[in-house]
Amino acid sequence: MISPLLQLTDSEWEDICDGCGRCCVVKLQDEDTEEIVYTNIACEFLDVETCRCMDYPNRGSIKPECVVLDRQNLDVLAQMPFTCAYRLVHENRSISRAMQNPATRSVGGRVVSEKYVHEDQIPEHIVDWITVD
Ligand code: SF4
Ligand code: SF4
Repeated sequence: MISPLLQLTDSEWEDICDGCGRCCVVKLQDEDTEEIVYTNIACEFLDVETCRCMDYPNRGSIKPECVVLDRQNLDVLAQMPFTCAYRLVHENRSISRAMQNPATRSVGGRVVSEKYVHEDQIPEHIVDWITVD
């Protein structure tokens, strides 16, 4: 089945992203089960208050872990948070009321930059709210 995302205009495509920043947090993956868990640690390039990337045009080159989505690589949506608006549209799921209010979904003010977290402390930052509406 063709993804609904492929039927969008450029403008509609851009409008889908609500800027929640949930795709910009550090993830951990269980080597055995491949389960992904999210942390409240943000990419070093995320402004943790405004929830904006500080170098969005160059995000793919400045941060290897950054998932850059476009129409040619919809497979990477599997790596995006379950609540990502692009995933919702792609998977024909409905936009919840929470998703219509971006402020409630934003990670702004709820995360700490990875610049201030030691590698050994990452497991202490695992949270479950990233994948809940
Ligand atoms: S580089 Fe990518 S992951 Fe990091 S803040 Fe920018 S968009 Fe988010
Ligand atoms: S998780 Fe999806 S909706 Fe939220 S900022 Fe990332 S791309 Fe946009």
